[in-house]
Amino acid sequence: LEDSPFFNAGKGAVFNAQGENELDASVMDGATLNAGAVAAVRRIANPIDLALRVMTESRHVMLIGAGAETFAVEQGFELVDPAYFHTERRWRQLQEAKAAETAAAGDDRTDHWYSTVGAVALDRQGNLAAGTSTGGLTNKRWGRVGDTPIVGAGTYANNESCAVSATGTGEYFIRYVVAHSICEYVRDGMSI
Ligand code: ASP
Repeated sequence: LEDSPFFNAGKGAVFNAQGENELDASVMDGATLNAGAVAAVRRIANPIDLALRVMTESRHVMLIGAGAETFAVEQGFELVDPAYFHTERRWRQLQEAKAAETAAAGDDRTDHWYSTVGAVALDRQGNLAAGTSTGGLTNKRWGRVGDTPIVGAGTYANNESCAVSATGTGEYFIRYVVAHSICEYVRDGMSI
């Protein structure tokens, strides 16, 4: 899905206000509560793969920007030219957003621009996992990080409750710690 131009992740990522693509992703293992995340990467074609690598090959949970890309190189990832993420449709959307002088967040007209990729999985042993990958919000400020790479906000998985991957305006998901909160409600007995 990150390789498809149709989704706001990887190749189809939206542009920030500077006309750049900054990508966020995270993954979580509900059996161990291990998690990995990357934020504001600009040269990684598949940020979700790098997030998984942060989880399995580093002692950290989140790496950002240039540090994440250096780690990627150490892990054998190829860095792509930032131009790889350029798509005409997303570029037009940025121009529209700028013309409307509105950040995409919370604007009904831009709802169809959400197309962050999320997945949750349940295996036969009852293990849950969740993963999310995004370009964020069209016309977001340079350096803005959304909910997607924040474990507990945009992504969470716990075998004792459920697995969640979120899409929408990330600022709300961060403030309400949405993914983790849903898992806690379910653990307390609320229906999924
Ligand atoms: N949640 C993402 C963010 O705020 C955007 C999206 O879901 O499309 O970065």
